[in-house]
Amino acid sequence: MCWQFIFFELWIHLEYSYFYYIILTNNINLEINTLMLQIETGKDNPVLRTVCEKVKQSEWKKYAKIGKEMIKYIKHPDHMWVGLAAPQVWITKRFLVASLLKDWDDEIFSTILMINPEIIEHSDDTTCEYSEGCLSLPKTKAGYINRYKRIKVEYYDEKMKKKIIWIEKLGSAIVQHEIDHLNGVLVVDKFVK
Ligand SMILES: [Zn+2]
Repeated sequence: MCWQFIFFELWIHLEYSYFYYIILTNNINLEINTLMLQIETGKDNPVLRTVCEKVKQSEWKKYAKIGKEMIKYIKHPDHMWVGLAAPQVWITKRFLVASLLKDWDDEIFSTILMINPEIIEHSDDTTCEYSEGCLSLPKTKAGYINRYKRIKVEYYDEKMKKKIIWIEKLGSAIVQHEIDHLNGVLVVDKFVK
């Protein structure tokens, strides 16, 4: 075997490895894009009407990764949405992403992933001041819903760390909207005006 042949073999091998790498990454991207772009719609859609199951420890990594993609997706400058729940991307598990805005013109806010979130306490007073639309109901006009002004939420982060936080104002309505999705409840069920 001459050195030219060895070199040729090596070159072919590298070319093919690169080729497969491209195919592999393209498929991964395609899968993520398809998943993220395919927003479930319709008030009678069975996926959107499912009471979602808790995320188990063994599933954590997988859904935490999807949750991160969901954050990227809603924060994309073309969208700038404020929340998304797992059933809206065809996953009937209890996790959501939400922007904790104080008001619509708030410029400094965090967008977080909440796994297995639960409202463990809330204010007595409610508010009906935020107009709510839903990505899953593109043909439905935004409306108003009575929401607790403040909620105390227990959830787990992507590293399985338990967190308890109080959320108020617009962020509180957003999180209540997304938790409703995890229970198969849509805005049309709750509109008061
Ligand atoms: Zn919604």
